[in-house]
Amino acid sequence: MTKLKLQITPIQQWLPKAKRPIVISGPCSAESEKQVLSTAVALAKTGKVDALRAGIWKPRTRPNSFEGMGEPALKWLKDAGNATGLPVTTEVANAQHVDLALKYGIDILWIGARTTVNPFSVQEIADALKGVDIPVMVKNPVNPDLQLWIGALERINQAGITKIAAIHRGFSSFEKSPFRNSPKWELPIELKTLCPDLPIICDPSHIAGNRELLSFISQKALDLAMDGIMVEAHIHPQTAMSDADQQITPERLAVILGDLVVRESVSKNSEFKNQLDQLRKIIDELDEEIVQKLSSRMKIAEKIGAYKRDQNVTILQVKRWEEISNRWLALAQALGLNDEFTKKLLQLIHKESIRMQTGVMNSELAG
Ligand code: PEP
Ligand code: MN
Repeated sequence: MTKLKLQITPIQQWLPKAKRPIVISGPCSAESEKQVLSTAVALAKTGKVDALRAGIWKPRTRPNSFEGMGEPALKWLKDAGNATGLPVTTEVANAQHVDLALKYGIDILWIGARTTVNPFSVQEIADALKGVDIPVMVKNPVNPDLQLWIGALERINQAGITKIAAIHRGFSSFEKSPFRNSPKWELPIELKTLCPDLPIICDPSHIAGNRELLSFISQKALDLAMDGIMVEAHIHPQTAMSDADQQITPERLAVILGDLVVRESVSKNSEFKNQLDQLRKIIDELDEEIVQKLSSRMKIAEKIGAYKRDQNVTILQVKRWEEISNRWLALAQALGLNDEFTKKLLQLIHKESIRMQTGVMNSELAG
């Protein structure tokens, strides 16, 4: 796996007061000067919020819904930032938004999920940001495409923006699920693996789509070593002009944050470290054995392939494969392995085995 080469300024340098978890909060949309200010003041009062968010231009699925208050709301947001001493952030979707946000002194920008899907739009924003020193957070694209997310981060980074972060807000999906946007945790995990220095902020509000799942998602994000959360909060959530179902009061946010358990990636407890080291050694040895055994299995499959070729027998032997599957599944079940996992692993091994055998057949044809 090749690591990503992004130039990253640590987030502690652009949100200097922030401790893990970094908390960004504010309404889905700025609706009025009073709503923005009263929400901001109540959020600041919790003492747990590091930056204020508010949408100024709202990407809506259908026309004639509330599309944000536009330019006047930039001043409300910045004034709320000044009143509370907190940096402010908003979504930009084109070069004009960038120019206006800069004009009003917005401190941090973010690119929304519907914009990340479009490289033309991301490039337009990147071009508008050339020579500007401002932090930019990039939400994941609506569809679960890691390359598209990475591509957007690269475009912004190549424009000279090194104060960057990713925001995980879940992915659109046809599958039935309790979430508005399926979290697909494996994507942010892979992003973190490819680029360990990149801060990742989870947006539980757009993943959940409701108030009830916010705690659960936020805790999971922290347990997966994410750096912070962006949560939508509104002084009167029920009356919100967008995303009313998922917004919470600043007081509720304080309770949720108070209940979060922040686990560190390392522990100072040496007894724990010793035990962890020992268990990791065992895992490493087991992994080595698994790889060796898989390699031996594939070598035998190759031999069988040569034998089938010489005897003019088909590679796929349905009956034999059924026998293997049933035996595996029964054993795996008895040993406490998850059925889904066993089936997926079996399919992978079978596919690779067939690929090896096909290689043997073809080498004969080529010869
Ligand atoms: C938002 O943050 O209000 C928003 C529109 O988010 P997303 O781009 O994740 O849908
Ligand atoms: Mn929203």
